[in-house]
Amino acid sequence: MCGIVGYVGKQQAYPILIKGLHRLEYRGYDSAGLALVNREGVLNVFKSKGKVADLEHFVESKDLDGTIGIAHTRWATHGEPNDINAHPHYSDSGNIALIHNGIIENYRVLKEALIENGYTFKSDTDTEVLVNLIEYIRTSNNCTLLEAVQQALKQVIGAYAIAVVEKGNQDQIIAARRSSPMVIGIGDKEFFLASDAASIVEYTDKIVYVNDGEVVVMDRNHPLKIVTLDNQESKIDIKKLQLSISQLEKGGYPHFMLKEIFEQPKTIVDCIRGRINPETYDVILSGIMDNRVRFLNARRIIFVACGTSWHASLIGEYLIEDFCRIPVEVEYASEFRYRNPVIYPDDIVIAVSQSGETADTLAAVELARKAGAFVFGICNVVGSSIARATDSGAYIHVGPEIGVASTKAFTGQVTVMAMLALAVGREKGTVTEEYYREVAKGLLELPAVLEDVLGLGDRIADLSKIFTYAHNFIYLGRGYNYPTALEGALKLKEISYIPRRGLPRRRDETRRHRAYRQRDADRGDRNAGQHLRENGQQHRGDPRPGRQDHRRDRPRRHACAPQCRLYDRGAGGHRLPDADRRVGAVAAAGILHRRQQGPQRRPAAQPGQVGDGGITSRRGLPEKSCLDGCAN
Ligand code: GLU
Repeated sequence: MCGIVGYVGKQQAYPILIKGLHRLEYRGYDSAGLALVNREGVLNVFKSKGKVADLEHFVESKDLDGTIGIAHTRWATHGEPNDINAHPHYSDSGNIALIHNGIIENYRVLKEALIENGYTFKSDTDTEVLVNLIEYIRTSNNCTLLEAVQQALKQVIGAYAIAVVEKGNQDQIIAARRSSPMVIGIGDKEFFLASDAASIVEYTDKIVYVNDGEVVVMDRNHPLKIVTLDNQESKIDIKKLQLSISQLEKGGYPHFMLKEIFEQPKTIVDCIRGRINPETYDVILSGIMDNRVRFLNARRIIFVACGTSWHASLIGEYLIEDFCRIPVEVEYASEFRYRNPVIYPDDIVIAVSQSGETADTLAAVELARKAGAFVFGICNVVGSSIARATDSGAYIHVGPEIGVASTKAFTGQVTVMAMLALAVGREKGTVTEEYYREVAKGLLELPAVLEDVLGLGDRIADLSKIFTYAHNFIYLGRGYNYPTALEGALKLKEISYIPRRGLPRRRDETRRHRAYRQRDADRGDRNAGQHLRENGQQHRGDPRPGRQDHRRDRPRRHACAPQCRLYDRGAGGHRLPDADRRVGAVAAAGILHRRQQGPQRRPAAQPGQVGDGGITSRRGLPEKSCLDGCAN
């Protein structure tokens, strides 16, 4: 779910809207658009696939006049990303324009009813249904725009934050929300609207958070009014915004990966929304129900995936075998596509990919389809190649994942696989009703559990300061935790052990090197690395003895002298809690052990054993990193 910005007041709306959209770019999106009502009351709508900059280019030399307008960045859930599906959507008559974050679950039924009443649709979105429904109610009941919005929303099942403007009405924006964020900024005879305060922070710090089920009237001639769908007036509670512009980069997080880690409670809610009934615990995945017989008669399920998606698929294997008693195989797509695998027509092949563009997985899908298997996709990006190439599927709906090391996509994939296993298991009668409910309830509680874990963020950050000095990590796990351990090792490789040649170096890492050097310099220990080399220590990436070190002047990845000094001071100096102190002591012992042993004394890793720079898989294959070239 992406971004909404709105403005009504004395200033020209366009520059405020565009700036607001730029502020929302960190969230990721696939298209952008805006609607303005100019001084003659003409409603102008502009939208285009791509970046906000593309939209700016597109509107050059267009009529951008207007002191009222709404703007949107879209992350497609229904209909592929293109110009037509971009928001704002406008009604059949062109009189009403609407932007929407979220999903209208019952859009099909509403659309059919509107088509019967003569409405036509230009886009594939769920959103266009809502704007036509508002217009239908407005014209057939001859009511105000506010009343039409209230009545339309009573018929809607799903999640939304919407904003609506109307031709001939230069004064009013009507907005509403349910399960999707929305905030109003109050200025001097002007109102700002946003899905994220980031886009309006520079104009005002007077903020009203809109609650679920509320409808907002922003009218330039009247004070702010908030009502419920039943027209009960709500109290306006103005708060002071505790956010500064400097915090805004990447939503206040230092990098996208951290932002995406912390987004997980919300993304799991989005992933589950409308799929598990919170009262009955029934799991409804339309991709399964529509192909019920296929799943009931499946001879075998084969997952094809790469990298993180492959690890998620291993968890899927455990879940499906446990709940559904169907034999499952998990294949690396890049291996599957290049051999001659045995695929039966009554096999189901499940292709898993965050981007939906992973080339090897797409090729594996084509191979499976040629062999006559039914292919089910689990993807994040709507309208992606894999989503289009599969017979059916389920989106994970976790929003754009920008960080290269996957986080929320992995949890989203596992969540969808758990729902899939539950739905099929119940249909087959291979899972007890009690267990089914227990797991469905557990999934509903997952966001709260994640909140608890993320609440330990500061403590985890403290521990990471200790772990950062370790040269090897061993991830242990049994059962479902075995693939999770593999994924943990992959994450560590992705963010730490990046070969120096051939692959781009992360900016974060370069910064860390600089930080190490600075710290060494501050401690008067600039030659720490040199000192260690003389004493027989060697680092990953260091030249072999006797070779010239062309990289001597480059920042070093590890600076061991300060590490040892840290621990030489003893745990007491760090004021760590007991448990953390023990971890610190273990890490210190490991480092000292390594120092005493010297370099090159460990045997090469055997299949199934932990090796240098990560973990080998149970099949003896080295784990592939996403950086190896897949787009996953
Ligand atoms: N469901 C809408 C669409 O696919 C809105 C997506 C969004 O939240 O950006 O257009």
